[in-house]
Amino acid sequence: MTGFWIDGREVDSLGNAGETQVGNPANGSLVGSVPTGTARDVDAAVEAARDAFPGWWETSAAKRGETLFAGSEAIKSAVNELAPLLTAEQGKPIGEARMEIFRFAHTLEHYAGMAKNLRGGSVPNLDSDPPRSGLILKRPLGVCAAITPWNFPLSLAGNKLAPGIVAGNTFVLKPASTTPLTVLRAAAILSAAGLPKGVLNVICGPGGSVGAAMCEHPDVAKVGFTGSTPVGKGVMRSAASTVKRVTLELGGSDPFIVMDSADIDRAVSACSVGRFFNGGQACLAVKRVFVHEAVYEEFKEKLLAKVARLRVGPGSNSKNRIGALHTAGGRQEVEEQVADALQNGATLLAGGGRPQGDEYEKGNFLLPTVLENVPYDSKMSCEEVFGPALPLFKIRDLDEAIRRANDSEFGLGSSIWTRDLEQAMLAAQRLEAGYTWINSISKIYDELPFGGFKQSGLGQEHGMEALEHYQLTKSVVLGH
Ligand code: NAD
Repeated sequence: MTGFWIDGREVDSLGNAGETQVGNPANGSLVGSVPTGTARDVDAAVEAARDAFPGWWETSAAKRGETLFAGSEAIKSAVNELAPLLTAEQGKPIGEARMEIFRFAHTLEHYAGMAKNLRGGSVPNLDSDPPRSGLILKRPLGVCAAITPWNFPLSLAGNKLAPGIVAGNTFVLKPASTTPLTVLRAAAILSAAGLPKGVLNVICGPGGSVGAAMCEHPDVAKVGFTGSTPVGKGVMRSAASTVKRVTLELGGSDPFIVMDSADIDRAVSACSVGRFFNGGQACLAVKRVFVHEAVYEEFKEKLLAKVARLRVGPGSNSKNRIGALHTAGGRQEVEEQVADALQNGATLLAGGGRPQGDEYEKGNFLLPTVLENVPYDSKMSCEEVFGPALPLFKIRDLDEAIRRANDSEFGLGSSIWTRDLEQAMLAAQRLEAGYTWINSISKIYDELPFGGFKQSGLGQEHGMEALEHYQLTKSVVLGH
């Protein structure tokens, strides 16, 4: 059993809630286990983070950046150990696991580089007689909680830890119960690379008890949460009891618009990657495709040809492009969304079921699935589809595409493919989403702020903006 990471060492749970087994989604085998945490473990982890905070805050920002940079290098060096572990517990293809490890390291490095630019401001002449001046101070919040989902266990943790730690905060992190192992190992590696004890603590346990206790804990100043929209609403409610700051990165149903002037081959490639990366289990993923009627058939034909080449199978085999879905329940949800669309008049163009054969018997595999004529009021159109299934919609013009795209409670990402600059800029302005990619693959950049509109989130990660979300701003007036 792998213990929690608290105060710079591996520890057992203080409660007696037993252990949580971590299974391999590709074959059901046991990957490892962790203690099932309780509220007592939350208290212990928060105490360690609280004790570490004054020292970490006093550490110069330059030194904090250096420490984070050393951690980033250590994580990169451990990629051959971390990536197979991530694939085993999460299910993703090994190449994508490696990409995630490097993405995590890159985010640490990015914020390490920003350390020396942390600063406040000054106002030399306030409106006062006699003259006075003002200072704007920035300071860390204190102990922050990070709660993350299972689809990108490490990189989504990095989005919170990197800006938060460099700004001088300390953390208690809770990964999803089904993907704790890579994160626990990464915490030990960061610690060995010089992160002082107590700056990063990792505990595991059910969201409803351990996660909720983190959100309600009086000594936690902020919750950085990534997960589903319904759970995010609960986090906001729990955090309200002590008026904690929250950052919420929630669900999405990203539209992907293809206009008649688009480079169809490039759009098709981006669509395939954007939908089927990580088995379709990504928040920012192509989830509804709107294609102009003049190029609809060409786009469809080329997309289907590409989808037919996507190999499904265990993520440990580097030739496979779509691994096992993370849970049997998640697969069933996608199957129900597809069945609902078909019952309501949709046409199946590809996939629609589970692959057959011994290799797939014990895993949560699902074939890449494409549909058309999906009703706009069906589950596939209205809910988040968290798996490898994609509806295609035919549209007459950009107005219709934008109207349909915005007809969603979500507003996370969006894309448009066109050679018409005016159309591209109109879409960028009107699409209700935190990101719009123009003729570009839907990929996150550390340099750019990212946060959902509408029910896709609150606040931002990445960019300078993420630093703001991990600092308090205070005004000081200088009298005589
Ligand atoms: P989830 O909401 O079920 O769980 C996320 C985390 O919250 C887990 O660690 C879970 O244990 C914890 N949790 C559950 N109940 C809680 C509670 N009452 N209080 C506090 N914490 C609680 O999400 P999931 O199924 O693990 O992940 C998939 C979802 O995450 C999808 O909706 C996806 O779109 C979203 N997501 C969003 C982003 C983004 O950046 N916007 C990124 C990745 C995933």
